[in-house]
Amino acid sequence: MTNLESVKNKMKKLYCVKCGCEVNLKLGMIPKKCSCGVKFDETDIKKHKNIIGIIIIFIFLMSPPFILVYFSRQAFQNSIILYMCALVMIIVWYRIVETVLIRIGLITMPNIEIRKS
Ligand SMILES: [Zn+2]
Repeated sequence: MTNLESVKNKMKKLYCVKCGCEVNLKLGMIPKKCSCGVKFDETDIKKHKNIIGIIIIFIFLMSPPFILVYFSRQAFQNSIILYMCALVMIIVWYRIVETVLIRIGLITMPNIEIRKS
């Protein structure tokens, strides 16, 4: 659990580069754009040196929904609705993971500035 705690402590607040407003996270996700109109949709990992490290952390953080789907796959085979729910859950989880990676400074968004809270 210490790993999770340290990730939590590393999370910083996000601010819009253009207007300086704090980015309002919705359910732990970065919204598509700021109230001033700047879009938050480009992530930038090319600048980062430790891409393999990012990918490993990303896979680690993305694994819970996939493990859940794996263990309940029989139920999913019988229900297209459950299957659709799982897909939505994975997309939402992806957005949350992306936000966490930005908040701990592993990936950057050109329009978002990270400051110590
Ligand atoms: Zn803004």
